[in-house]
Amino acid sequence: MAEEPYDHVIYFDNAQKHIDEAAEDCPQIYAVKVPHKSEVATLIQMENPEFKAFLDTLGTNTYVSFLQAMLGKKPSDMYDPTSGIQAKEINIYNEWEAKTATSGTRRALILDWDRTLTQVEGFILTQHAMTSFEDNGIVNYWKNKNMLKDPLPEAVLLEDTLLYLFGGKERLTMIRNWLQSVAEKGIKIIILTNNAGCNFKVFREMGAAVLPSSGQHKFICSGLMFNGNKGDALKSEIQMSKLCPQLEMPVFGEQAWLNNILNQATINAANGGRRTTYKRRRTVKSKRKSSRRLKRKQQR
Ligand SMILES: [Mg+2]
Repeated sequence: MAEEPYDHVIYFDNAQKHIDEAAEDCPQIYAVKVPHKSEVATLIQMENPEFKAFLDTLGTNTYVSFLQAMLGKKPSDMYDPTSGIQAKEINIYNEWEAKTATSGTRRALILDWDRTLTQVEGFILTQHAMTSFEDNGIVNYWKNKNMLKDPLPEAVLLEDTLLYLFGGKERLTMIRNWLQSVAEKGIKIIILTNNAGCNFKVFREMGAAVLPSSGQHKFICSGLMFNGNKGDALKSEIQMSKLCPQLEMPVFGEQAWLNNILNQATINAANGGRRTTYKRRRTVKSKRKSSRRLKRKQQR
């Protein structure tokens, strides 16, 4: 039941590269490019007027205090207020939802994390997979590494981190309400991300605090398994089989190896069970070496 293939999938990502990868490998997935300032995210100093105005709307925020304690005098981050899903993208989703509601029952919404759900590329939490927002794990982790400057933050709160990463309360609420309505339609939500923290506990805690608790959701960590190629990650999912052309076993390699074994077995049988011995083939490198030696000899 759980592994039944999807009939319709919509996918949002800010990176054109990943939209192209999905279009190539899974042409039946409806891939939507989310805006951003530039393909490669740029660092902006927190004293930049636009960034500062945003930080002022947050008021006291434990994640911002933590960043300042980590980054020192001139903290900066890859904040991009032009990025991320907005009402326009939610409308695109709504149109897709209405169009696909009557044909096929299995549907999924795929979302990139950085600058698609969030408006900041990346995050600093910890480098340890099992650190948690609970028990002050993040501050303790960096304190032990002597990486925090005064004033030391007391704790990093999960909600503060989300408010910062998602561009403030209004947008965070909009995303939460939207995803709640997605889950209520029985549409599965999949986070597809190359973020290196994808398997980390803090990342899953953030996901759980944004995604609806009622619906099923899933994470695909394409950075670890697929060298960051999201098309490869998608087509390897059995549930995408209706939307991505099927993977085929490469004929070279495996097939040649198998034929070799089968031939060898036949030769062995013909030899009355004796193993055939082979002379080691000279490699190209060793051939080059010996021809060089020969040349040197000739020159002498
Ligand atoms: Mg992204």
